[in-house]
Amino acid sequence: MDPIDIDGRAGEGGGQILRTSLALSALTGRTLEMHHIRAGRGKPGLLRQHLTAVRAAAALCDAEVEGAELRSGALRFVPGTPKQGTHHFDIGSAGSAMLVAQTVLPILLRVGGQVRVEGGTHNQSAPPFDFVEKVFVPMLARMGADVSVRLDRAGFYPAGGGDFTIRVAPSELRPLEGAMSLTEGEVSGRAIFTRVPASVAARELAVLASELGIPSERLRPHEVRSRGPGNAVQVFLDGSVPELVTAFGKRGRPAEEVARDAVAQVRAYQAIGAPVGEYLADQLLIPLALGGGRFRTGPLSSHAETNVETIRAFLGPDALTVEPDGGTVIVSA
Ligand code: ATP
Repeated sequence: MDPIDIDGRAGEGGGQILRTSLALSALTGRTLEMHHIRAGRGKPGLLRQHLTAVRAAAALCDAEVEGAELRSGALRFVPGTPKQGTHHFDIGSAGSAMLVAQTVLPILLRVGGQVRVEGGTHNQSAPPFDFVEKVFVPMLARMGADVSVRLDRAGFYPAGGGDFTIRVAPSELRPLEGAMSLTEGEVSGRAIFTRVPASVAARELAVLASELGIPSERLRPHEVRSRGPGNAVQVFLDGSVPELVTAFGKRGRPAEEVARDAVAQVRAYQAIGAPVGEYLADQLLIPLALGGGRFRTGPLSSHAETNVETIRAFLGPDALTVEPDGGTVIVSA
């Protein structure tokens, strides 16, 4: 079969094109030739996180790779046969360990295995560990996947040093169901903190109580271990499809503002009235294309649209269907 040529400038031109292409190259056995990697980003090319994703995907399917260097803008990835194994990768920066796991997950679903990644586990612009544990993995379980995740140490930007492990048993995915209408369930909140005063968490939780009316027994300060300071406010909505919003604290940003950011994200999710939130939508696209089924979400982000196009490049134009329905969108496979 001819190599598949992927232009990293397409759509939003970010790292998702690379992650999806690596996974689907490994699963389809088609050689990937990618150029202009992450050309739409301020620091284009392979950063440590992306390079680790390339190495991880290569290790899981015994690939031959050219261009796997820091800041490389082009890559040739010749996959071998995916096989089960136990792997350990250290990103060497606070780059997201969760996005390395996201890259190899589709391969793990087919063959099973265990991957431990050291790096960031709670990064802005990446799924925090808790989102993977409470939202993404339960949705995969509904599709018949047997996935477990473990956090041994949290890693926040800039110190990193998080330690995360994902274990997957080989799984036959079945179609996704039950993700078409929004039924709201219990709402709970927590303030994750490490190496910052506990009073920061208390101030954040007070805002969640007053703005969202969450009762105190469902609000929790959660101190974690990590190498550097970190703080994040999370609200979990345990509805027909789970949703978890995260707002990150940073030096100089008042605790109340961080919590209000989380509140605004909750309101935005509720206002759309679709069960699958913005981030879950783009993360479910590969499992959906592989296992079938459908879900309802809000208007697709440019991130999700780009991911749809990358998946179609490998699996064909009919791999995913996107239909607007009122103010929402139905994605099916
Ligand atoms: P880059 O080129 O910088 O690596 P990218 O395309 O890899 O860009 P993003 O577009 O920021 O990165 O998306 C990364 C992934 O992180 C997406 O799958 C998105 O769903 C997920 N994500 C981002 N923020 C959150 C969040 N708050 N909760 C859950 N998932 C998130």
